[in-house]
Amino acid sequence: MNIYCPKCQKKIRFEDMNVAQDAAMCKPCNYVFKVSDFACNTIPRDFNPNSPPAGTWFNKTHDEIVIGASTRVSGAAFYLVPSMLVCIGFIFKVIKDYEFIHDATLALVILTIMSIYLAISSLMTSFGKVEVRIRNGIGTVFTGVGKTGWTRKFNWNEIDRIYEHLTTPADSSLKIVHEIVMDGKSWLAFGASLDDSNRYYVLNTLKYLKLEGE
Ligand SMILES: [Zn+2]
Repeated sequence: MNIYCPKCQKKIRFEDMNVAQDAAMCKPCNYVFKVSDFACNTIPRDFNPNSPPAGTWFNKTHDEIVIGASTRVSGAAFYLVPSMLVCIGFIFKVIKDYEFIHDATLALVILTIMSIYLAISSLMTSFGKVEVRIRNGIGTVFTGVGKTGWTRKFNWNEIDRIYEHLTTPADSSLKIVHEIVMDGKSWLAFGASLDDSNRYYVLNTLKYLKLEGE
């Protein structure tokens, strides 16, 4: 079993692991962690893929596996939608007083980008989902709303490590980004918009399927 550092993703050498104490230390970055928490493709003892928590789903038929999770954030639309409307209001104001505003074009571009960003965020936090489908060894990861979104393909048989990756932004005031990574000959990261419990469920269900040899 290969263990990889959860911080820098480098492979941990056997002599840097203490399995009896469930501890490992990554020599390149000095990170110490519990092996059981980060051993790739091991799942928590009490994890049951057949009891998906609210907001997640798991369906397995003879030829297809579907694992999904909602990206709904309750209440988020209550502040995102008004912010978007304020942005759109400013767009109309800038258009109306175009000739009197300094850098009006730049203002329009910024306001339009902000409005689009807020509109997508409102939709994702109300109706969005992340869904992984695997059929005959070919998988897709969909992120979006309804049928509109971003679909990426991967080869399930070429994936041999599944783990959670944390990206710490250079600016410490920003949030740490958590993603599910499927790694092997192909590489895919997704699920940054899921909350912790949904991400936990999707991550461990994928690991479970890998361990089962699906
Ligand atoms: Zn490391």
